[in-house]
Amino acid sequence: MNIHEYQAKALLKGYGAPVAEGVAILKVEEAEAAAKSLPGPLYVVKSQIHAGGRGKGKFKELGPEAKGGVRLAKSIDEVVAHAKDMLGNTLVTAQTGDAGKQVNRLYIEDGADIARELYCSILVDRSVGRVAFVVSTEGGMDIEAVAHDTPEKIHTIAIDPEAGVTAADVAAISKALALDGAAAEDAKALFPALYKAFNEKDMALLEVNPLIVMKDGHLRVLDAKMSFDGNALFRHDDVKTLRDETEEDAKEIEASKWDLAYVALDGNIGCMVNGAGLAMATMDIIKLYGKEPANFCDVGGGAGKEKVAAAFKIITADPKVEGILVNIFGGIMKCDVIAEGVIAAVKEVGLKVPLVVRLEGTNVELGKKILNESGLAITAADDLDDAAKKIVAAING
Ligand code: GDP
Ligand code: MG
Repeated sequence: MNIHEYQAKALLKGYGAPVAEGVAILKVEEAEAAAKSLPGPLYVVKSQIHAGGRGKGKFKELGPEAKGGVRLAKSIDEVVAHAKDMLGNTLVTAQTGDAGKQVNRLYIEDGADIARELYCSILVDRSVGRVAFVVSTEGGMDIEAVAHDTPEKIHTIAIDPEAGVTAADVAAISKALALDGAAAEDAKALFPALYKAFNEKDMALLEVNPLIVMKDGHLRVLDAKMSFDGNALFRHDDVKTLRDETEEDAKEIEASKWDLAYVALDGNIGCMVNGAGLAMATMDIIKLYGKEPANFCDVGGGAGKEKVAAAFKIITADPKVEGILVNIFGGIMKCDVIAEGVIAAVKEVGLKVPLVVRLEGTNVELGKKILNESGLAITAADDLDDAAKKIVAAING
């Protein structure tokens, strides 16, 4: 689960991290009062969407000459003008895809005088089985290019979970970032605080890009991206309240209500499978036959008829889906239950695309019989290979 920048900054502030003063607003009319509450004379108007690259983004409605989704302002009037430009319009960034994202919220911030822009993130480094800091002196808006062209400028410092962030770790991070003076002093509190926040809140990613050294020599968190481990959300009610469902894929929200493991993808074959391994294999075999899956969907081991029907509805609601492949191994789950769920869903939402069903396992004969006698245009498949070939052939027409 992701949250907005302004929420992430408020959370980090609670851990003592240096962030600017700021006010989040939803309406243009609130911009003036927000700016007046800040010291000035420099302000920043920041689009709040769950995607990065806002600074270099472009508003669809404003044309290519207009400024991006993060803008400096030197007066209150300028803040209001930027707010008018941004609110309600669609920001397209390298991370939003062509459709872009509507900006419904702005963060008006006290502007900083920047001396250097650095990169600092914390993530779970699976290669060493530890939480690690990833840092670079080359922060700002082009970190992807830095990682690609000059990977030696990116440093990874893994943290021993027992010891936490030690003085030696802070020194290593500070050295990698070439910090000195006041910034090096600030670092002693900041890096342990970021690590503490990451651990206590069960984050999957904390990215501060840029972390800045200001002209006065101090550090400041200028941008913050936070992702939380969905499996740990149950123990963070405070984090759950930060969820902004308007930023999430509607199909994924619906799926989470049914406890379905569903991830929307770019292809056009909808998949309904039980078990993550089988789902992966199904996606692989679709690719092997030259098509792309529209989603990853694991209905789990013990799904009942209603859950199967819910999954089917979510898959068919995706306009990209040109065909559906149901691939279920009935172990705990019984094939006749699956068949009934599929039929119930088809009857409710209709079937506008080809549907291939491959069932195997407990009550498989009964399941097939139910499908065959349903009178619906469902193609039965004998095995996974046969199923993939049949759905690809059906789509290719
Ligand atoms: P992103 O483009 O979505 O990553 O948004 P950021 O919050 O990282 O802002 C993009 C860029 O705007 C930063 O890299 C800075 O160069 C600039 N910027 C943001 N806030 C300030 C500020 O307070 N002062 C100045 N001078 N520049 C800022
Ligand atoms: Mg940034």
